[in-house]
Amino acid sequence: MKTAIIVHGGAGAWDTDSERLEQGRRACRQAAQAGQAVLLNGGSALDAVETAVRVLEDSPYLDAGRGSYLNSEGQIEMDAFIMNGRTLDLGAVGAVQLIQNPIRLARRVMIDSPHCFLVGRGAEAFAESVGIPRCTLDDLVARESMDALDIASGHPLTAVTSDTVGATALDHYGDLAAATSTGGTRRKLPGRVGDSPLVGAGGYADNRTAALSATGHGEALMKVLICKTASDFVGQGFSAQAACETAVRLLHERVKGLGGLIAVDHQGRIGFAYNTAAMPYAYAVGDQEIMSGH
Ligand code: ASP
Repeated sequence: MKTAIIVHGGAGAWDTDSERLEQGRRACRQAAQAGQAVLLNGGSALDAVETAVRVLEDSPYLDAGRGSYLNSEGQIEMDAFIMNGRTLDLGAVGAVQLIQNPIRLARRVMIDSPHCFLVGRGAEAFAESVGIPRCTLDDLVARESMDALDIASGHPLTAVTSDTVGATALDHYGDLAAATSTGGTRRKLPGRVGDSPLVGAGGYADNRTAALSATGHGEALMKVLICKTASDFVGQGFSAQAACETAVRLLHERVKGLGGLIAVDHQGRIGFAYNTAAMPYAYAVGDQEIMSGH
C-alpha cells in the first residue's frame, strides 16, 4: 500500500506576508519529512503522526508544546489527541501543564491506561507514573520572542491567530492514524479545553473512512464534530478533498465557524481545506517529494 502523510500548523488569522507564517510552513515540511521517513521505513501510521506532531510541538513558531499561548493567568495548559484507525483506540489529555510533548502523553494514555482521556493533575500524575518528565514553564514559553519577531518585521500580531498542529497518515499496512496538539487559544480562561482533544472534533481516524485533524475556533469546531462529520462524508463516497471542503463549508453555514481540516482517506488520498487567512500544511505521498503551502 502506498503511504501518505499530511500535517498542518493551524488555520487562523495569519498575516499572509509574515516571517512567522513562513517559519510555520517550514516546520510543517520538516514534520512531514520526519513522518514520511517513519512510513517509508515500514513504521506505523501511529508512529508517523506522533513523530510529525512532536516536530511541530518543538517549533517555537506554533501553538503546541513549545510556543503554546499563555492563558489569562500566564500559565500554559495544553490539549492533545491521538487515534488508531484500525482499532478506534484513542488517547487524549486536556489542560496539562509542564509537559514538553503532550502528544507523547496522549499516546501513553491510549496504550498504558484503561482510559481514553485524562485531564489536569491526574494526567500529570499519570505522566510521572510512566516516566514522562515534567519540564519548566521556560521550556515552553517562546511566544514573547515570537511576538517580538513579528513586531520587528513590521507585522504585529492579530488577536486570533490559531496555530494548533496536527498530522494524519496512512501506512504500508493500510492503517490510518490522526494526531492533534495545541496550547489552545490565546489568553483563554484556566481550565478551558477546546476541540483538539475531543474525539470527532479535533481529530478522528477510522480505517473504513479517513484520518482527520482539525484546527481553528474550537468552540465552533466541536459543535459540528467536524472530523467525524468529514469522516462520515468519506463513508458516503466523498474523496478526502471533497469531504474537507464540504465539512469546512458546513462549519461556516451552521455555526459561522472559522477553521481548517486535513485528511488522508483509506485510499491514501490527501485532502485539506480552510476558510481562514492561511493554514500552513505539508504532505507527502509514498516516496514523492514533500509538497507544502499555506
Ligand atoms: N482549535 C484550537 C482550540 O480551539 C485552536 C487552534 O486550532 O489553533 O484550542
